[in-house]
Amino acid sequence: LRRRYTLGWLASKSNEQTKPASTLHGQALRPSGVGIESTIGNTPLIEIRSLSAATGCTILAKCEFLNGAGNSPKDRVALSMIEHGEAAGLLEPHSGDTIYEGTVGSTGISLATLCRARGYLAHICMPSDQSFEKSNLLLKLGAVVERVTPAPIVDQAHFVNRARNLAREHTADPAKRGRGYFANQFETEANWRAHYDGTGPEIYAQAEGRVDAFVTGAGTGGTLSGVAMTLKECLPQVKVVLADPQGSGLYNKIKHGVMFHSLEKEGTRRRDQVDTIVEGIGLTRSTVNFEQGRELIDDAVKVTDAQAKNMARWLVERDGIFIGSSSAVNCTAALQTALKLGPGHRVVTILCDSGARHLSKFWAQIGDIGGEARTTIEDILEGRSLN
Ligand code: PMP
Repeated sequence: LRRRYTLGWLASKSNEQTKPASTLHGQALRPSGVGIESTIGNTPLIEIRSLSAATGCTILAKCEFLNGAGNSPKDRVALSMIEHGEAAGLLEPHSGDTIYEGTVGSTGISLATLCRARGYLAHICMPSDQSFEKSNLLLKLGAVVERVTPAPIVDQAHFVNRARNLAREHTADPAKRGRGYFANQFETEANWRAHYDGTGPEIYAQAEGRVDAFVTGAGTGGTLSGVAMTLKECLPQVKVVLADPQGSGLYNKIKHGVMFHSLEKEGTRRRDQVDTIVEGIGLTRSTVNFEQGRELIDDAVKVTDAQAKNMARWLVERDGIFIGSSSAVNCTAALQTALKLGPGHRVVTILCDSGARHLSKFWAQIGDIGGEARTTIEDILEGRSLN
């Protein structure tokens, strides 16, 4: 990859987002702005003390759950997709236009929030096995929510196909107000670009240009591809590592060049999402957003549900960091990457959303953790059952 941009580009990129930095006692303040959109981006990058201590590396995590609209990295993507639609003349605020999306939840929450802020209606199709916290929240935001029975992607009943078809039908129906707009997070360029223009440059600047490895999972692949593109342009030696939950096909794709186990064929799976308690990452098909950065991926780490649960428990016990399942997968893969690289390296990962979004499923399986810190690194690495 050609190094297309210089630090000057990065400075101007982050200035666009941060505006003039005001300070309090020499500390930079998050800028003030107009509307909920101004709470998106410029999230903190924190060191996870316990994981640094356990590995001798510096483990840094981008707190994407602090994006202030829908509280996940999907705020950046939702804003980017809406702006893309508005710029293309496909969306007009307060005209009755409806945004349709197929999502496991986070993108829907970000879209539903921004739809309220900008005068659109939101219609969200999500698989019926995702946690109720997310669909209840969507209803509170005034979105139309369809919980769709899980189906393979080749089936028109799949949640993504359903959203696409509904948007088309809306636009074609003269009895409906406004138009239907399919946001299309899996395939639109507006997704990876949000991370290439925002998350990636922020990480590079906040890590002061010192990153040895970037580790994250792929739900659409937008975060992985966008951040990997920025980092590889600025730091050609950086290792990009895919964190993949059990049941996902991406690990095999990276390691062996095939998406499926030898016994599985596309279309024969019961459903498109993967067999895991983890929500938001893992795929059994490729997407435009994953392909965008696929050649930049240097390694892949498979994380079991048991390992992810133990990591989530560890992060609360040792650091007071309460996160959801995809973040737990990311941190487990970051731990393994740090151990593989050896002491002294700097590993960056993403904290996607809060554990509060996962109380009824992921955290219900972990249970209450009690006062004493008792999880060990071996428990995490070996995926021992702790309940
Ligand atoms: N974590 C959560 C909770 C998500 O909902 C998603 C997106 N589906 C991701 C991580 C993965 O992000 P991306 O789509 O950029 O791969």
